[in-house]
Amino acid sequence: MTTYLTVPISAKNAAEADEQVRRAMAGGAEMLELRTDYLENLTVDLAQRVWVQARTLAGGGVPLIVTCRDRREGGAIDYPESLRIDVLTAAIEAGSEFVDVEFANFVHPDFRRRIEAALTRSPGSRLILSTHDFRGPFDHLRGRYREVLQVCPLAVPKLVYMASHINDCFEAFDLLHEADGDCIVLCMGQAGSISRVLAKRLGGLVTFASLDEAAGTAPGQVTLGTFKQLYHHDSIDRETELFGVIADPVGHSLSPAIHNACLADRGINGVYLPLLVQGGRDELFAFLDHVLARPWLDFKGFSVTIPHKHSALDYVREKGGFIEPLAEQIGAANTLVVDPGATSDERRIAAYNTDYAGSLDAITAGMGITREDFRGMPVAVVGAGGVSRALVAGLTDAGAKVTIYNRTVERAEKLATDFGCAWSGLEGLSHLDARLVVNCTSIGMHPKVGASPVPADSLRSDMAVFDTVYNPAETLLLRQAKAVGAQTIDGIAMFVNQALAQFRLFTTQSANPTLMRNVVLANRH
Ligand code: NAP
Repeated sequence: MTTYLTVPISAKNAAEADEQVRRAMAGGAEMLELRTDYLENLTVDLAQRVWVQARTLAGGGVPLIVTCRDRREGGAIDYPESLRIDVLTAAIEAGSEFVDVEFANFVHPDFRRRIEAALTRSPGSRLILSTHDFRGPFDHLRGRYREVLQVCPLAVPKLVYMASHINDCFEAFDLLHEADGDCIVLCMGQAGSISRVLAKRLGGLVTFASLDEAAGTAPGQVTLGTFKQLYHHDSIDRETELFGVIADPVGHSLSPAIHNACLADRGINGVYLPLLVQGGRDELFAFLDHVLARPWLDFKGFSVTIPHKHSALDYVREKGGFIEPLAEQIGAANTLVVDPGATSDERRIAAYNTDYAGSLDAITAGMGITREDFRGMPVAVVGAGGVSRALVAGLTDAGAKVTIYNRTVERAEKLATDFGCAWSGLEGLSHLDARLVVNCTSIGMHPKVGASPVPADSLRSDMAVFDTVYNPAETLLLRQAKAVGAQTIDGIAMFVNQALAQFRLFTTQSANPTLMRNVVLANRH
């Protein structure tokens, strides 16, 4: 089954259409949809001219869909029904491979008679019968699908609805999975955008890509460039394994860029998605339940970040899955690995925390030591938030003597008590006695790059200084540390190392650290 990566041409006039078709073809479009309802002063002649022009530019190998969308189903300009039918029948007779007609209109006898008469004269054209719900999921998605096929068994049903949450997408996946003929099922909105990427994985006939962010014809469309360069859409097939980052918000995450580049680099047939899971524990639990209930989706693993790291651990605990002991002590999981199991009862998710492992790996590589060398090492950790907790767990587990410094002293005391460390307010940083200093606060992060959490005159040449801030890579703290001759380790090293550890857990293979670092540097906002 082919899935066509289709670009809607939403031009106001023939010149604009010419320009859009050229860009779509240059970007690798596999099909074009001529949205004639966007053309100003639409006539059958104008639509024909745009059609001939698109056919000439695209060549015979790129099929065309002609659509003249009714305003009530998302059309751009409110043209009379008689004109819309004339445009569609002319497109059929000109040899358009597909015409898209609203199912709600097709059930009207006169509309139907004229479209069917044109299709009889031009049997090479196929009918797409589309139905949209811009408010939310259909009441009965499968029922609507069957209804379309009952009315016209040869048509391609197209069902498109607004997903208000990522969990609304699973019904669309089920229908694509079960359907044995051509069909198109897509979810609109940011929460639905994964349905556009997964259409090819699940065998939908068409998925739509916008030319750029501004040119989308439906909310949540993914750009052609993103399909090709980020998701490697050309390589997706029915066997592609799925990975993703669970977060809210997720748009800023660098993980899809990093992991997709490394999957392609290692020749692994996988795609890594941004998974916007809005809400809290209940919504996360429902999402993971949906995943476990559908082994055919073949989700292999997830990165987890704000705000779901704690709930992810709770989910795995409740389901009796494996929890890495340090993830349990930290109280947060940033990595979930799906064990498919032989039966549905055995299907489980395992929880890990690669933040601590990534940090320790970054430090040992930067200092040229092994984890055994942490034993007895005096370490100053600045900050007492989530990242500090992961680092303190890892460092104390390796035997380091940690002192925690924090603005809010009570938080330092609480963390120190949990892991048997010393603690202090930030004023303690003016007389530091540490071999390793770690900044786990946001001080020094873009845009406030002129700040450092540690007084410059506390830094010495026999120290190593690790800053978890990764934007900028070289913070004021690291510049000042370098100036006194101390060893420095930047936050990108931690970011890359935690992603390397995740990649190993997901795929049992090693990713290329230089590629990862370059992708982080190229994509940092
Ligand atoms: P968090 O839980 O919100 O903790 C923030 C910490 O920073 C707290 O200790 C807080 O002190 C302190 N802090 C914030 N602003 C401060 C200020 N103006 N003066 C003094 N202390 C201040 O955040 P987190 O998740 O631990 O993340 C901390 C940092 O880690 C991030 O900002 C980021 O730069 C870095 N990070 C790096 C990576 C990586 O891969 N390299 C990944 C994630 C995060 P109080 O307790 O007094 O509020």
